[in-house]
Amino acid sequence: MTLPGAPFVGWRGDALHLEDCDLQALAREHGTPLYAYSRSAMRSALAAYEQALAGRPHLVCYAMKANSSLAVLQTFAQAGAGFDIVSGGELARVLAVGVEGSRIVFSGVGKTRAEMRRALQAGVRCFNIESEPELRVLAEVARDLGVRAPVSLRVNPDVDAGTHPYISTGLRDNKFGIAHERALAVYREAASLPSLQVVGIDCHIGSQITETSPYLDALDRVLDLVEALARDGIALQHLDVGGGLGITYRDEQPPAAGDLVRQVLQRLDARGHGALELLLEPGRSLVGNAGVLLTEVLYLKPGAEAGTAGQGKNFCIVDAAMNDLMRPAMYEAWMGIVPCRRRHEPAATWDVVGPVCESGDWLGRDRELAVQPGDVLAVLSAGAYGMTMASNYNTRGRAAEVMVEGDRQWLIREREDVKSLFAGERLID
Ligand SMILES: *Cc1c(COP(=O)(O)O)cnc(C)c1O
Repeated sequence: MTLPGAPFVGWRGDALHLEDCDLQALAREHGTPLYAYSRSAMRSALAAYEQALAGRPHLVCYAMKANSSLAVLQTFAQAGAGFDIVSGGELARVLAVGVEGSRIVFSGVGKTRAEMRRALQAGVRCFNIESEPELRVLAEVARDLGVRAPVSLRVNPDVDAGTHPYISTGLRDNKFGIAHERALAVYREAASLPSLQVVGIDCHIGSQITETSPYLDALDRVLDLVEALARDGIALQHLDVGGGLGITYRDEQPPAAGDLVRQVLQRLDARGHGALELLLEPGRSLVGNAGVLLTEVLYLKPGAEAGTAGQGKNFCIVDAAMNDLMRPAMYEAWMGIVPCRRRHEPAATWDVVGPVCESGDWLGRDRELAVQPGDVLAVLSAGAYGMTMASNYNTRGRAAEVMVEGDRQWLIREREDVKSLFAGERLID
């Protein structure tokens, strides 16, 4: 069976590889838990978008909250991507790798005045505005700086992206965006404020979307607005359809990025908007299947036989936990787990759990695995919303990260040392 992440993740004999690197060897060299990413997989995922957009005015803005390690940003910056940021911290990161403001769009419902100032000073390409009060605050901040802020309104198209409620963002009751029926009035206000410049329109309907139709529905709703605005004399330069394209974790079959883009372009053309610059904000689909989390099996704790005293389940206790990889605990997400060395022994059914003191601390439930203590396991599809959601819960330092390409590898983030976790703390009298 092909693994998620193939062809960059795959077996060579009984040894699991990421590109040409033996994952068990990487784990032994750098220790565990360890994130490992394939640079070729990231480049190839971006190229799928870029090829479908070739010859059209466009900017693919990598939604960096999916994975914001500097070397990952550098990889996309070198490949010509733009960036979608959601905080001043992300702005600082992306500027640190030399990205120009003109390639940055700033999303998020709660931008502070300080963040707006820094983004204006950096000359970001666009603020994706999510509420009327935010629009007014940005107008003030820009006026005080003596600049014009480029804005796009994030419209909530009220479509169901058919995904998990926590990662669905385009429904009426979500906190995101401006209601479709308010949008026209808010655009009029924006156009009337001298310190703002209306440049675009955007939407982002959710994450891990596995069908094309919600995108096309949202696009139609947004194009209705583009047309209404044009009748009002407000011409837009770009349309941003957001991110959210899903990946295969298990057996999902999301559309290929190129197919999605082609259908979006077709719809734009069919409605006479082929000249609008198209922006996209993919996160997960650029990095999710490019990464794995490596973890060592610490202990096996077999369950009691049915009808006898003791826990009924088999627990495989590993050294990675919910603080390293939140997705299973937070969304009950299923992620593939495979040993880095295939054992030709009978498998058993294990719950793969971490050392954190929470019952929610699991990485996989009811997994058929042939494992022994000391084995290294790979949690697949861990390149997105893995390291960026990591915490220090239980005073655990965050994992190290390596990037590989072919048979080369670079340590891109050192393992976080425990002393640094309390270095900023003070005792009291
Ligand atoms: C999170 C986010 C994205 C990226 O979503 P993915 O599902 O990772 O592609 C894009 N745009 C905005 C505004 C976001 O908040």
